[in-house]
Amino acid sequence: MKKGISRRDFLKYLGVGAAGTALFEGATPAFAEENLPSFELGPFKLKKTKETASGCSYCGCGCSTIVYSENDKVVFIEGDPDSPINEGALCPKGMALTDVYTIVDKNHQRVPNPNRLTKVLYRAPGGTQWEEKTWDWAIPEIAKRVKKTRDEHFEEKDDKGVTVNRTMAICQMGSANINNEEDYLVNKLMRGSLGVVDLDHCARL
Ligand code: SF4
Repeated sequence: MKKGISRRDFLKYLGVGAAGTALFEGATPAFAEENLPSFELGPFKLKKTKETASGCSYCGCGCSTIVYSENDKVVFIEGDPDSPINEGALCPKGMALTDVYTIVDKNHQRVPNPNRLTKVLYRAPGGTQWEEKTWDWAIPEIAKRVKKTRDEHFEEKDDKGVTVNRTMAICQMGSANINNEEDYLVNKLMRGSLGVVDLDHCARL
């Protein structure tokens, strides 16, 4: 149901606050009550959406989010005010999270983001074209190539004869979106099993 808005509400929504109100009260005739435009508030756009608690995927700060969805489609994401970490706030990167799934088109409508990858794409070494592949193809292929590279470049000792048991041919990029246990497994696999010593993280400053 639509509701009219008073002059005081208008100032409040502007975030002007008490100081601003005082400024407007006896001031310039341009802000006299009769000169203010009247506003109608539309229905709350997220009223019928489903709320799901989630987290920002971009860095290690761990900000919490609320994902709003309608008919199983994400329509909006904002900071979770109940989170002790970010208390509802998000940085500019986090505020753009909704755009991962949808973008605003020329008609100001949210539409699915055409740049979002939803399938495995593979470009062969030296190739110029991306080919669509399945995960059933990709996962064993990744494992095979990692093992081959590691075996071909594994060093038991360095040039001073010190035992190193490492490969310098592979590096590992961590993720801000995995938890302690997953991090532990990544380290076990990379350092313990493969001898990878170049490990880095997307949130490293
Ligand atoms: S990218 Fe920004 S919003 Fe996301 S977790 Fe990091 S600080 Fe929070």
